[in-house]
Amino acid sequence: MSPGPGDELPAVDLRSDTVTRPTPAMRRAMAEAEVGDDTLGDDPTVRALEARVAELLGKEAALFFPSGVMANQTALAVQARWGSEVVVEGGAHVFHFEEGAASALKGLQLHPVPTPDGVLRPEHLDAAVRPGSRYLPRTSLVCIENTHLASGGRVIEPDQVRALAEAAHARDLPVHMDGARLWHAAAASGRPLTDYAEPVDTVMVCLSKGLGAPVGSLLAGPAEVLEEAWRVRRRFGGGMRQSGILAAAGLHALEHHLPDLPETHARTLRLAAAFDALPGFRVVPPETNVLLVDLEPGGPDPTEFLNFLRFDRILMLDFGPRRLRAVLHRDVDSPAMARVLDSLARWGRQAGAA
Ligand SMILES: *Cc1c(COP(=O)(O)O)cnc(C)c1O
Repeated sequence: MSPGPGDELPAVDLRSDTVTRPTPAMRRAMAEAEVGDDTLGDDPTVRALEARVAELLGKEAALFFPSGVMANQTALAVQARWGSEVVVEGGAHVFHFEEGAASALKGLQLHPVPTPDGVLRPEHLDAAVRPGSRYLPRTSLVCIENTHLASGGRVIEPDQVRALAEAAHARDLPVHMDGARLWHAAAASGRPLTDYAEPVDTVMVCLSKGLGAPVGSLLAGPAEVLEEAWRVRRRFGGGMRQSGILAAAGLHALEHHLPDLPETHARTLRLAAAFDALPGFRVVPPETNVLLVDLEPGGPDPTEFLNFLRFDRILMLDFGPRRLRAVLHRDVDSPAMARVLDSLARWGRQAGAA
């Protein structure tokens, strides 16, 4: 095969917002971080990051984890009882993308509730929470996701979070929020992070979902819950030592990259408009940095389209039957956006000429 014209260009990688690389300034912050043995409680940079995130979310404490999956699963392990059920929204990351961890590691049964928009509402709990019969499993936790990835990065608004949390608490069920992209919800709505986090018991946030840090997630919540989470993190092999080098990247991201999210969201809207102008493409209107694009029946072939983009060194994900996904992030700058828009325009001209 002959090489494409763009083979020398770096790829515009829209597969996920996890593909960002640390900036030179972030690498400097990492190199210069003051560190200690975090398992002995001695790493000042980790402690500073945990305090900062607890403050941002309005929680008593926060704990630094090597991944979002480990932090989510720790939240489940600490708050849900062995052999019981956790009610989750049907498209949830904890259900689809965490390698069956809740059942494999903690003997939990996830009870997925399909919703049209990713929003778990009080009436869903009426149907999903078990009534307390000895012939049915017990429900012990409710889990929501914000922003909701499978519905296209949708924001669950604070009043929706509160309504759900109140309905769960009325049944004595704690609520965990998978807030891998909670930063995006707050940036999109202009509401403080605390408005989203306050109604729920525990919150997980990722530093590598659009914020540009290479590693790291945190679990925030009551100090007593996090004391137990510390043990479970250790049990899962997630206790770290001089992890201040990683925490420094997180602190840098919170200070310098958090303010850039609205720009990323504006680019997502621009990309959505460009797709919507093409015949045969329909976008799910984006609210944050995730764009889902549906290909109409009888319209463009997904593989052919993805290959067309790949020839221009632009990467998107195949996200299900006739659905594509693009996730915008800070490494997609203006020139990269221009390349994507140019490719889409060329596809449009080619389709129009055919
Ligand atoms: C990325 C992500 C996680 C955590 O996944 P990691 O692979 O551990 O980073 C959890 N929930 C959602 C919704 C995510 O997008």
